Parts: sequence; structure tokens; C-alpha cells
Amino acid sequence: MTEVVAWIGLGSNLDDPVRQVNTALVALDSLPQSRLLACSGLYRSAPMGPQDQPDYINAVAGLKTTLPAVALLDALQAIEQDHARVRGEHWGPRTLDLDILLYGDDIIESPRLSVPHPGLAQRNFVLAPLAEITPQLSVPGLGKVQVLRDRLGNEGLVRVAEAEWQAGASGSEGTE
Ligand code: ATP
Ligand code: CA
Ligand code: CA
Ligand code: CA
Repeated sequence: MTEVVAWIGLGSNLDDPVRQVNTALVALDSLPQSRLLACSGLYRSAPMGPQDQPDYINAVAGLKTTLPAVALLDALQAIEQDHARVRGEHWGPRTLDLDILLYGDDIIESPRLSVPHPGLAQRNFVLAPLAEITPQLSVPGLGKVQVLRDRLGNEGLVRVAEAEWQAGASGSEGTE
């Protein structure tokens, strides 16, 4: 089976967002055929779209996995459901959002999945945490993460804390 590194964007702005993101990191590490390699610190960001909602907490994680991309999306959506996500208005408030930013160097265009994530190059709350953990990574068709990140300012974005997940500390080593 092919092992890839998938980069996952995490976001939350409801019901204790820091806890939502930290428990999502543990859930990612617990996925079958998968192991969390790294995670960024936590960032607070102003909302996109509707402005009458709380600020977000964002982070990015690197997941080594043999799950195919669509199976990974299914697993991420199941974690969102475990976190009581309710689908409302577009870009509206949510307890947890998990996006596949990158899946190895694959380019995917299917009804359920666009990878690299279409918003990646425009979103400082994605590129700042991604650049924190993998600045030299190349995004297919777009170039280096650090270069993309440096094109965007820090508008609306503040780094606030370390994530609680640490490699080897979740007790799920060897379960993949
Ligand atoms: P955005 O994608 O602009 O960040 P969003 O995260 O609010 O917006 P959602 O409502 O969470 O959007 O997801 C809508 C659909 O996007 C999902 O059902 C999924 O099929 C699809 N999708 C397409 N590409 C991806 C991807 N790379 N990661 C996650 N979902 C994706
Ligand atoms: Ca695991
Ligand atoms: Ca999203
Ligand atoms: Ca999403």
C-alpha cells in the first residue's frame, strides 16, 4: 500500500474551539492506517464569509497514512460528526472543520474532493500554520509553502498557543 503524507487543516469557532482542535488531533492520530507526524501551534483568525460569528482557532497537522484520499475524507467527516458539527450556512460557524489541504503531491478533481484545497493559496490561517511545520514543502502547481505564505500578510491572524498533541504522547503508537 502506498504511504503518503496528507496535510490537514483544522478549524473551529464553537463550543471551546481550543478543546475541539486538540481532541481532533488525537482523533486523527487514532485513525486506522494512520499516524500523526506533526502539528502546528494554534492560531486565532477572523472569520471568512459571514462576520456575525466568533473568531476561529486554526491549526495544521501532517498525517502519514495509507488510507486512499476519499477514505480519508470519509474519516475526517466522521470525526466532524463526532464533534457534533451541524451544517448551516456556507462558511458559517462550526464546532470542527477538517480539510484535506494536500495529499502527497496528488492533484485530485472529483465531485467530493479538490486537492490541493482550492482556498490554500489565499488563506493566511492555513499557510501560516502549514509553513510553521513544513516551510519547504512544494504545493503542486503553486510552489513552496513558505513563498506562498510570505505573499500573504498577517491580517486577522494571531498565533495563540501550542497544540496539546505531541508525537508519541497520545498512547496510540503502533495502532496504525
Ligand atoms: P472551504 O472548502 O472553502 O474551506 P468549508 O470547509 O466550509 O469551505 P464544507 O462545508 O466543510 O466546506 O465542505 C463542503 C464539501 O467540500 C465537503 O462535503 C467535501 O466533499 C468537499 N471538499 C472538496 N475538496 C475538499 C477537501 N480538499 N477537503 C475537504 N472537503 C473537501
Ligand atoms: Ca494511529
Ligand atoms: Ca474549510
Ligand atoms: Ca471543510
